[in-house]
Amino acid sequence: MSKFVYLFAEGNATMRNLLGGKGANLAEMTSLGLPVPQGFTVTTEACTKYYDDGKVLAQEVVDQIFAALKVVEEQQGKKFGDNANPLLVSVRSGARASMPGMMDTILNLGLNNVSVEGLATLTNNPRFAYDSYRRFIQMFADVVMEIDKANFEAIMDARKEEKGVKLDTELDADDLKGIVEKFLVRYAELKGEPFPQDPNQQLIEAVKAVFRSWDNPRANVYRRLNGIPYSWGTAVNVQSMVFGNMGPTSGTGVAFSRNPSTGENVLYGEYLFNAQGEDVVAGIRTPQPIAHLEQDNPAVYAQFKELALKLEKHYRDMQDMEFTIENGKLYMLQTRNGKRTAQAALKIAIDLVKEGLITEQEAVLMVEPKSLDALLHKGFDQKALKAAKPITKGLAASPGAACGQAVFSAEVAKEWNAAGKKVVLVRMETSPEDIEGMIASQGILTGRGGMTSHAAVVARGMGTPCVAGAGEIRVNEEEKYFEVNGVRYEEGAWISCDGSTGYVYGEAIATVDAEISGDFAVLMGWADKYRALKVRTNADNPRDAKVANDFGAEGVGLCRTEHMFFEGDRIMAIREMIVADNVEDRKKALAKLLPMQRQDFIGIYKAMEGKSVTVRYLDPPLHEFVPHTEEEMKELADQMGLPFEKIKATVEGLHEFNPMLGHRGCRLSITYPEIAEMQTRAVIEAAIAVNKEGYKVTPEIMIPLVGDIKELKYVHEVVKATADQVIAEAGVELEYKFGTMIEVPRGALTAGEIAQVAEFFSFGTNDLTQMTYGFSRDDAGKFLEEYYARKVFESDPFAHLDQNGVGKLVEMAVKAGHETRSDIHCGICGEHGGDPESIEFCHRAGLDYVSCSPFRVPIARLAAAHANIKFPRK
Ligand code: ADP
Ligand code: MG
Ligand code: MG
Repeated sequence: MSKFVYLFAEGNATMRNLLGGKGANLAEMTSLGLPVPQGFTVTTEACTKYYDDGKVLAQEVVDQIFAALKVVEEQQGKKFGDNANPLLVSVRSGARASMPGMMDTILNLGLNNVSVEGLATLTNNPRFAYDSYRRFIQMFADVVMEIDKANFEAIMDARKEEKGVKLDTELDADDLKGIVEKFLVRYAELKGEPFPQDPNQQLIEAVKAVFRSWDNPRANVYRRLNGIPYSWGTAVNVQSMVFGNMGPTSGTGVAFSRNPSTGENVLYGEYLFNAQGEDVVAGIRTPQPIAHLEQDNPAVYAQFKELALKLEKHYRDMQDMEFTIENGKLYMLQTRNGKRTAQAALKIAIDLVKEGLITEQEAVLMVEPKSLDALLHKGFDQKALKAAKPITKGLAASPGAACGQAVFSAEVAKEWNAAGKKVVLVRMETSPEDIEGMIASQGILTGRGGMTSHAAVVARGMGTPCVAGAGEIRVNEEEKYFEVNGVRYEEGAWISCDGSTGYVYGEAIATVDAEISGDFAVLMGWADKYRALKVRTNADNPRDAKVANDFGAEGVGLCRTEHMFFEGDRIMAIREMIVADNVEDRKKALAKLLPMQRQDFIGIYKAMEGKSVTVRYLDPPLHEFVPHTEEEMKELADQMGLPFEKIKATVEGLHEFNPMLGHRGCRLSITYPEIAEMQTRAVIEAAIAVNKEGYKVTPEIMIPLVGDIKELKYVHEVVKATADQVIAEAGVELEYKFGTMIEVPRGALTAGEIAQVAEFFSFGTNDLTQMTYGFSRDDAGKFLEEYYARKVFESDPFAHLDQNGVGKLVEMAVKAGHETRSDIHCGICGEHGGDPESIEFCHRAGLDYVSCSPFRVPIARLAAAHANIKFPRK
């Protein structure tokens, strides 16, 4: 019989896959001797089985649950379902990777109409007993029965209003008893049946609800955003309750062993007295900073501090902990490696090395490559910032500068973002339903909630700037405005938020780009020390090349020459070339383009300070350059002094049924060798020019879309003849390289032959994915959405390299290429070159470099280091 249930005493931290993060760490804390309320974990395998069995909880799992419960009853000296001394439990979800706020917890399970009286008598605290029961009814109704919390909150609010009080803690036992009665009536009305009184039934229903919640839409969105596979499933933790709501010497809180925003080495967190569970994060009452606990209860504070330190030493990382104090006694309810801002991640990693707790390699591994994104994006322009006056201040919940138009719902944020607008999402508080809107926003501003509120935690995770708990603002989500100190800001008003200081501004403030310095530079230095892959950039102009060079790019892996053709008056010259019907006219038009291209290359070579630059020859189908409306065609005809009919005929002649598989790439250089000649001249002349100024550029000429060695041979002859002639004319020495993209499956299959001519390969994995799958890149978005919704695919093969299929072609081609030419240089220049997961693949496949967009360069450097530390190259 398989084991589906583990007591906390039976597990440990290495069993994360089976017990989930929360369960594994509860077990680990138990074995470390920390004060953990005991319980057991129903495994992720039980969850998978639940789905495999068609959403049924197998009897053997049920039996194991009740067997474990027996043991816990003995440990606690209480009985589950007992009327006089009931054992109450919490039911908590916990997947392998933490998914904050994605799944819901039920507290005080096991209570019913009879045992609530027993609990009141036993504790001599009826207020506590009814408070626990009303919480349980609401949570069970919400999580298990999907009854909107608002139904119950309205009852609570009504009572508070009647009594003229604001806080839950101001309600007494009779108030809460009355509320419980109303809750039970409301529940029965909405469900058509009474609230379940059998604790066994409550427990099993709750376990099933946690398993179900693995598949809720919020969880699915979060998983896709974070690349968490659906197949992992979640575990369920059933844990005996300890009570933070027993009165003024009880409470509950969350704390980090270091500041998660800055990385500073001080205990950091919040707590609330006489409260339970989610009260701290829900923003209902404003919590106290953890430092305050030192005054309120010095002994508990000292103990907590000691445990935090012990956990940090044990896990060798900053911890995020949840605790409860019951009548002055401390219990630990959770610990995990804490989420942190990128800034804090760097500082903590470097400090831990200094403290001798971890090695440089471990420090490098501790920083998520993707998280650097937050440091690579904007801050406010300091001058503009000084000139601006804040309208209010909230908590600096997630750093970075955000400037955008105020919107008040996740839906509008999504719509406006899709329409190309920059928005800041303004809410009283956020909830998991808002997640897509948060992704679509430049920044998030909330009126309520602390540093551990939903908005703050999620924003930090996403690297989005966030100002939380700006208490002076009044947000009216319904009527779409917020008000602060008498001034109203409507939907669409420009605002700016500084997630690093907490200031909010009622105007647009210019932002500036980031630079690598301080801790960032130190960590990047370590990354460079431990990586094997080189990192180049995709840059089509000197500006992008400069940004990438500043971010540490070691060359240009892809310069898309056609991008230069769209600028300014160049498009006219290229159109002239396209409509030309003889070689002479075409050459005349190309002659106009030559100096412009040459100048571009000079700029790029210089921006890269003489590092290698790979220039890809004209790639897209020519129809992309010509006008498509009759009006534009007339205009072109006038400009060129040609009859409209002729232009129209040319444009029509360029029409293709499958342009992506049409007349493009090297096929253009074969039909119009003049184009390749002009481009060769520009590449070579530019290199000669800059080398005269003391640079040492070795240009790399790259031919796209080659599927057959015969194609490459033909173009090679054209290129070589021109290049050799230009070099001879100039009377200088110049080395240049000739290579190809591998992006047509046949090219990958025959890479051994192609390497006879190609000195380097660059894997164009966008086209290679398109042609290997047969998915049109331009149309796949539409049906891939359906693939994700139906769980046919979990991720976008254009974003994360398909290692099984496309990856196999890459590996094959690298191998075959080396067999023909042992020193063949191989890189990747598709979108995947900036994706950490794909970079790890490229490292293992033996590529020499990855090339990615400028802002991804530091991410790629770090990802390459991760890959080499995990899979060292010999
Ligand atoms: P989340 O994953 O959303 O943080 P948790 O399962 O950690 O959910 O539960 C949230 C909170 O509920 C905890 O921080 C704690 O305050 C409270 N809680 C959970 N289990 C217990 C328990 N056995 N006793 C007391 N409080 C509990
Ligand atoms: Mg928790
Ligand atoms: Mg391509």
